[in-house]
Amino acid sequence: MTGFPQRLDGVIEIHDERLRPVVAHDPPLERLCTGAIWSEGPVWIAEDDSVLWSDIPNDRMLRWSARDGMSVWRERVEFTNGHARDRDGSLLHCSHGLRAVFRTDVDGSNQRTVVDRWQGKRFNAPNDVVVKSDGTIWFTDPPYGLIIPEEGHGGTSEIGDCLVFRFDPASGAVDPVTDLPEHPNGLAFSPDEKLLYVSDTSGALPGQGSNHCLWVFDVVGGARLANGRRFADVSPGVPDGFRLDAQGWIYTSAQDGVHVIHPDGTLLGRLRVPEKTGNVTFGGGERDTLYIAASTSLYRIVLRTRGVQNP
Ligand code: MG
Repeated sequence: MTGFPQRLDGVIEIHDERLRPVVAHDPPLERLCTGAIWSEGPVWIAEDDSVLWSDIPNDRMLRWSARDGMSVWRERVEFTNGHARDRDGSLLHCSHGLRAVFRTDVDGSNQRTVVDRWQGKRFNAPNDVVVKSDGTIWFTDPPYGLIIPEEGHGGTSEIGDCLVFRFDPASGAVDPVTDLPEHPNGLAFSPDEKLLYVSDTSGALPGQGSNHCLWVFDVVGGARLANGRRFADVSPGVPDGFRLDAQGWIYTSAQDGVHVIHPDGTLLGRLRVPEKTGNVTFGGGERDTLYIAASTSLYRIVLRTRGVQNP
């Protein structure tokens, strides 16, 4: 009846020959399951070879594994969005509803707040999160949980801006690191953590802005950002979420699938996905499988590269 996974061939579009070795085996795109409204924030769980992700308008998290197929993992999750594994194995969740980053054990139990305000003001709607090798937690805070009715509880911005934050669990310090992107959304470090990439999706909604680009910053002293510059425009659509591979290439969501961008700014090619794409994560035992959260469905494609080892 379900017929999953569904195999889609011919999805690879090469714009630059440097991409060819990564897709020389001509991998198909596989549609693994469907049933979400808007899929975001996939995270690979190596312990049981599964992917967890957010279905934001349904206020739930979903789980897929080859063994078990798709299931509802947690409900009434306070509109989680992006996720990351922390260094201790726990799971970090961005929550539009709580206007916070919270933590659970990897089985979803033992929920506790990580950080929920800066200078006494609640965040807007934490969107995506990464953990640096020094244990600090970096996350973006655009307005979407406040202004999209089905993605949160609504409300007004107490901070009055959309910032990227660095939280140091050791000291409890919360520091904004940039206000350059209008609507900071996805973020990821380069493999050597000398660069931080942040996407800007202010063009996603009418009347909000016009950006659909990636910014890149130099990471100074491991803790501050400098020299922010627009790095690449992504179109059609916006670069909602992205991950890097071990050679520093960027795999970003877009309206028409995943765009692969070289650190020199060149669009190397596209992996065409038949649904608007929200976010990606590398997984699999070799970390060579790109899992793609795209609207109603979860997809995957096996590449001849490896994702940056995030904790
Ligand atoms: Mg996002």
